[in-house]
Amino acid sequence: MNSFDAIVIGAGVIGSSVAYHLARFGAKKVLVLDRTQIGAGTTSQSSGILRTHYSVRENVALAQSSWGVFKDFANYLQDEDAASGMVQCGYLICAPEGEKLEPLRQALQGQVNQGVTVQYLGRDEARSLLPIAQFDDAALIGYEPEAGFADAYLVATSFARTARRLGVKIMEGVEVHRLLTEGGQVTGVETSQGTFVSNTVISTQNIWATDIARWTGIPTPVVAERHAVLALEGPNPYTFQMPVFKDLGSPGMLYCRSYGGNQMLVSEGTVGETLTEPHNEQGDISLDYIVDVGEQVAQRFPAFDEAGLASSWTGVYDVTPDWNPVLGRIPDVKGLIVGYGFSGHGFKLSPGVGRLLAQEALGLPTDVSLAPYALERFRSGHLLTGLYGKGAVS
Ligand SMILES: Cc1cc2nc3c(=O)[nH]c(=O)nc-3n(C[C@H](O)[C@H](O)[C@H](O)COP(=O)(O)OP(=O)(O)OC[C@H]3O[C@@H](n4cnc5c(N)ncnc54)[C@H](O)[C@@H]3O)c2cc1C
Repeated sequence: MNSFDAIVIGAGVIGSSVAYHLARFGAKKVLVLDRTQIGAGTTSQSSGILRTHYSVRENVALAQSSWGVFKDFANYLQDEDAASGMVQCGYLICAPEGEKLEPLRQALQGQVNQGVTVQYLGRDEARSLLPIAQFDDAALIGYEPEAGFADAYLVATSFARTARRLGVKIMEGVEVHRLLTEGGQVTGVETSQGTFVSNTVISTQNIWATDIARWTGIPTPVVAERHAVLALEGPNPYTFQMPVFKDLGSPGMLYCRSYGGNQMLVSEGTVGETLTEPHNEQGDISLDYIVDVGEQVAQRFPAFDEAGLASSWTGVYDVTPDWNPVLGRIPDVKGLIVGYGFSGHGFKLSPGVGRLLAQEALGLPTDVSLAPYALERFRSGHLLTGLYGKGAVS
């Protein structure tokens, strides 16, 4: 009764996607365990932005395949109740003269080479799409019309519900205490509700992936990093028709999107506050920080000089040294597969990653090679560092 074809630890958007894909590929007995609830981890803190803009070509490919799923979510899941809350408003990115200009030029060209629809805009064209912004300093502006944002929590719960309908067992409020192995082979997990047996365990634990190091002695190069997200109430609407905006010219490499009505959701795309322990509880956001971000926003969106703070929250990224995830098998422990280290950009990759990890777990050919994302890269030095340096744009 307690024996399964595969056990997934973590029911965030990644684990839920893995579980759905395992069932869809025909796995009969799949168990998902989460110590809290589906989507209640860092997934619930996401800004939800979907773009294929990356400077790492593997990420472009994963984001592209995932985008195809978000666009047609209910059909893909073959479940009319599934929803992603997607708003296809486009993604505008601009850089002034300076160090970010060449990376932007190369990343846009890379996207074009990989078949993504990208437009190069003049300042007036950019202004017509996002009239609340000024582009006086912009030396290069790229626009991805198909991009936008969606609801990460809704996507996680949709994947999980459809997985359940396909026979997956999801247990909430169950904490995994230990990975069980025999002779280097995974045999199951010990939990707060007893032992569950399987030769295949997929860990999608995000910042808590450091458990793996405790359980196996194998390093997990991931740190928990807290970031703040602000919703500013401006004098003019930031409509759902206006694109998500990435400002490579601002000190915080800000990203902004509509949050409905006159509200703009804004956050910095740079390094956050490192936490000593992995947890995703709310942290303080200082007034100085709010003023600093507000000033950066006002530079780009002059009318937001008068904006007020409508709401705010903090969220935690699972950051690796190259700001890209670790995906695939851990060779020293047979049967253990991991997906962690999404470094603040995992939602947009979640359908593709879930599919790849499920394929790998079931011994099926993977759509694309997982090799570039292997843990081994931190030993070999073949890192996946993006052209923009540290930060979630990667
Ligand atoms: C502020 C913020 C903004 C973001 N914005 C974007 C964005 O705009 N676009 C984008 O693409 N991405 C964004 N991201 C990143 C994206 O949201 C995450 O990469 C993604 O949601 C991570 O999903 P996950 O399943 O890996 O992790 P989680 O949702 O954290 O799930 C991990 C789960 O594992 C469970 N767990 C861990 N250890 C155990 C254990 N021992 N036993 C049982 N259960 C366990 C936890 O309870 C948790 O539910 C953002 C993230 C944050 C924090």
